[in-house]
Amino acid sequence: MNDLIIYFGLLDFVLLLLPTLVVVGAVGWWLGRRRHKDSPVSTLALVKALPNGIIIARASSAELPTVVAANAEAEQLWGEPLLAQLDGPLSRLVGDAKTHPGYHVSTLDTPSGSKLQVSSVSLDEPYTLLILEDLTARKQQESFYRNFIHNVSHELKTPLTVIQGHIAALSDRMLNEDARQTSQRIAAQEAIRLTHLVDNLLLLSRLEMPDFNFERRLVNLEAVVEDAILQLSDLAEERNITIGLKCEHPLPRLMADRDRLKQVLINLLDNGIKYNREGGKVTVDIHTDEHDVMIKVADTGEGIPLQDQAHIFEKLYRVDRRNGRYVEGSGLGLSIVQYIVDKHGGHIAVESEVNVGTTFTLSLPRVDESAQPER
Ligand code: ADP
Repeated sequence: MNDLIIYFGLLDFVLLLLPTLVVVGAVGWWLGRRRHKDSPVSTLALVKALPNGIIIARASSAELPTVVAANAEAEQLWGEPLLAQLDGPLSRLVGDAKTHPGYHVSTLDTPSGSKLQVSSVSLDEPYTLLILEDLTARKQQESFYRNFIHNVSHELKTPLTVIQGHIAALSDRMLNEDARQTSQRIAAQEAIRLTHLVDNLLLLSRLEMPDFNFERRLVNLEAVVEDAILQLSDLAEERNITIGLKCEHPLPRLMADRDRLKQVLINLLDNGIKYNREGGKVTVDIHTDEHDVMIKVADTGEGIPLQDQAHIFEKLYRVDRRNGRYVEGSGLGLSIVQYIVDKHGGHIAVESEVNVGTTFTLSLPRVDESAQPER
């Protein structure tokens, strides 16, 4: 577990440092171009394109540094329009960068009262680069990672402890046959839960990679829904749940990544089955309006208490079951759903009543049908 924390710590560090290194690299590249020949890229265009708050200042020994270029993010982070000449702490940072080589990182209070981290580095004489980052946002990100690592560790540890306990019990020669079978069943169940959790963690981290490619084509939504229903039909039968499909015709096709869309439907149907009552129903209803295609997945299950509804899309969030019934799951299914739907320009809503049922409504934008062929 310590290795995991060190790994995430390093990842965290690299993720936070990366944008700064990218900015410095981009500005260095531009200066290199500029030195050799007329650059096809203007300073302002480059500064505007960078994601952090950027100021390039020109320092002269006699006067306050002047702003050569700055982007809108810099002014937004600073909280008020930047003057043509820098004074106060920003001017001091330019001076520090001039007199001492290397990086200078300082925390500044802005005139509007928020906290910024400002990195300054001397570029080609007489220019200095200032990179402004919102420390409040960074702190939130750090705290999110800390909580996430804590929750993942906890979710991994619980099944592992149960498995260890039952494996130890199985080595007891005095254990009777019933107890042996119970231990074997629980250990196997927990191993499945562990695998499911790790699979979902891997899937979510793969989806969230910046270079993950959603392969969008025109897809036949009804066929995708039918595929997803077929995949879950054994589970539904096992639990005596009926799945129904109502679909408006003709249905416009969707511009979507077929496999990811199917994943969304599988996760919603799987929940509709898992959290349902014996003999219950799950209904998928697809209809359209002028702008969107709406997919409703409704069940007749235990419902979600109002106070939990705002949290169920958070990573690893699971509702405490009052009826004590254990339902296997990772608390990641809906985070995956929301992420994929978001990447398709859509949104998801939940309506639920305890002991009556839950309806998830996905809205995905309709597309111009004249595009590419269906997969
Ligand atoms: P899990 O793997 O735990 O099902 P999800 O992210 O899919 O994780 O869902 C988060 C939580 O939301 C679940 O643990 C469950 O408490 C609640 N939930 C999701 N879908 C339903 C549903 N259809 N009916 C009742 N509760 C649901």
